[in-house]
Amino acid sequence: MSASDPFRFCICCEADCYEEDPEHAENCPSTTGVFPVAKRDLVSISAEGELEHSGMRCMDCEDSFAVGDHYTHRHVGRGGPPGMPEADVYEVICLGCAALAAVA
Ligand SMILES: [Zn+2]
Ligand SMILES: [Zn+2]
Repeated sequence: MSASDPFRFCICCEADCYEEDPEHAENCPSTTGVFPVAKRDLVSISAEGELEHSGMRCMDCEDSFAVGDHYTHRHVGRGGPPGMPEADVYEVICLGCAALAAVA
């Protein structure tokens, strides 16, 4: 842990995420649960170091997201990648599906 820890401060409102109760801004995605799609969400770096278009899709309706769209997370349980059995696992869904799920 150091001041240069990239996960310490929220990238949106710079709240200190190591505080027990971080004070995110009211419009921060951590507060609203709604995240804007950024260009970096749609690309990934391949093993060869090349930029790949990976895309992002709603897990429910399979709509693909574009930069500027908004998405939210659905908690689907625990069991992350190897070595992180306790990690929370989230699915990415669009706001339309989130609204449907909320009234279902
Ligand atoms: Zn924040
Ligand atoms: Zn959807």
